[in-house]
Amino acid sequence: MLRTHTCGELRQEHAGQVVRLCGWVQRSRDMGGLTFVDLRDRYGITQLVFNMEGNAPLTLEARKLGREFVVAASGKVAERSNKNPKMPTGDVEILVDSFEILNESKIPPFTIEDNTDGGEELRMKYRYLDLRRNVNKKNLELRHRMAIETRNYMNDQGFIEIETPVLIKSTPEGARDFVVPSRMNAGQFYALPQSPQTFKQLLMVAGFDRYFQLVKCFRDEDLRADRQPEFTQIDCEMSFVTQEDILSTFENLAKHLFRKIKEVDTGDFHRMTYDRAMLEYGSDKPDIRFGMTITELNGVVKGKGFKVFDDAELVAGINASGCSEYSRKQLDELTDWVKRPQVGASGLVSIRFGADGTLKSSVDKFYTPEDLKIIAEKCTAQPGDLILIMAGKKEKTQTALGTLRLEMGKRLGLMDPAVFKPLWVTNFPLLEWDEETKRFYAKHHPFTSPVPEDIPLLDTDPGAVRANAYDLVINGVEIGGGSIRIHNRDLQKKMFSVLGFTDEQAQEQFGFLMNAFEYGAPPHGGIAFGFDRWCTIFGGGESIRDFMAFPKNNSGRDVMIDTPSSISEVQLKELNIKLVNP
Ligand code: ASP
Repeated sequence: MLRTHTCGELRQEHAGQVVRLCGWVQRSRDMGGLTFVDLRDRYGITQLVFNMEGNAPLTLEARKLGREFVVAASGKVAERSNKNPKMPTGDVEILVDSFEILNESKIPPFTIEDNTDGGEELRMKYRYLDLRRNVNKKNLELRHRMAIETRNYMNDQGFIEIETPVLIKSTPEGARDFVVPSRMNAGQFYALPQSPQTFKQLLMVAGFDRYFQLVKCFRDEDLRADRQPEFTQIDCEMSFVTQEDILSTFENLAKHLFRKIKEVDTGDFHRMTYDRAMLEYGSDKPDIRFGMTITELNGVVKGKGFKVFDDAELVAGINASGCSEYSRKQLDELTDWVKRPQVGASGLVSIRFGADGTLKSSVDKFYTPEDLKIIAEKCTAQPGDLILIMAGKKEKTQTALGTLRLEMGKRLGLMDPAVFKPLWVTNFPLLEWDEETKRFYAKHHPFTSPVPEDIPLLDTDPGAVRANAYDLVINGVEIGGGSIRIHNRDLQKKMFSVLGFTDEQAQEQFGFLMNAFEYGAPPHGGIAFGFDRWCTIFGGGESIRDFMAFPKNNSGRDVMIDTPSSISEVQLKELNIKLVNP
């Protein structure tokens, strides 16, 4: 070994020992006759000291060390006279008597500090330098511990990890596929898996009744802070289980991770149906760290001559506690905010419940103080509160109010990052109608089974069929979702037909699965968690990128290796591909 200890290891009790450390020069300072060099590795920073009086030639050499030089230094551990309580190694320093430059470094393009001067693009280009920074190092260490603890828990529960293929078949459902041309099969393509869904179901048919995998998935979607073209799932499937078995097994996984990684006991998770989540929180992934739930107001606002409310399918409001003093300007700003296309509301009506008990609204022309009082009571508003009301189509209004609720929660500081409120959302609709293509889409995926008593509705009212599906939501972030699956060929065929597949199309694309269902498929179900998202929440981060070693930017590019990139004529020819716009 080139080193006897790491740069994070030495303490006062090591004083007097001769050690050899290896690391990178974080910084160096000349102080009169002494030169100090901070040597950094993955484990920490240790101070090296060179003394002009003791060894002038060595000290002069040390003064030439540049930032990020790789150095091996030997010397005696000494107790520091000037201790640094902020560093774990701050009680000691190394009185260096020899050192060796293992490699030099150019001046790094940004400072390798917690608060760096490097912008995102530059740091991504030199991600290997960015990863030397403590913040990133900590994030990857957290990710590693999460993975290990997940594997420990799953192993203890009798799950086995099985790898599924990465070169699979493109299917039209779900997001867009990334495809890979096949050289040996001209004109044909593999697709990268959006998830191992069908393979894990086939593993159930094969009898591996408890499967899991930490697995890369690929989706060619537009990117946002919480999306990357390739991401990792904790993918799981079980046979011979009910929804209840799955919820409890994976609630226990989540509790295990909360305990081991965050040292928090969350207690039992809340549960809420999809309908209630939409009604009260305007979202299928409610952040339940705070209340401010949505109140329906149809019954108390209609019939007073205010056309906007009278014509609306839904009139509903939230109560922003303690906000009655909002100025005209603040309310105008809030109205503009909800009218932005991202929220999409047509307007905002407000009722101020003054601290003196007086009620004043932006629609006083139509509503008497008595009317306002009834509305305020319905919203359980108190003096000092501000009621914010929206109207329009039901789902649109719910979602817009849900977005406003989150914004108000943020502005009022109600979303404490140290508090974790996990929640299961259940009873999702099985299907979603798309106006543009005039057909139903599977809300989850086409393998999700309907709630048994709703199966007859598939023929009469598909939109009303509830799915045996569930999501795990933490603090407003969907971190996992799954379902009990269809395991019967006829029902699966029926599902494809409701989704607008002809029998031939269904057979062509998913025949392998439906055929497997004819060979003793057990009842089964499962779930998959967004591992990157989960790490981000546990790490208190904003973007999943910060928890990936080598993420891609907003245009799906890796600016470090500079990809995607073009390929040579020869390669294209081999693959039998002709570019339309070369
Ligand atoms: N495969 C699903 C997904 O990726 C999760 C599941 O149903 O298990 O969303």
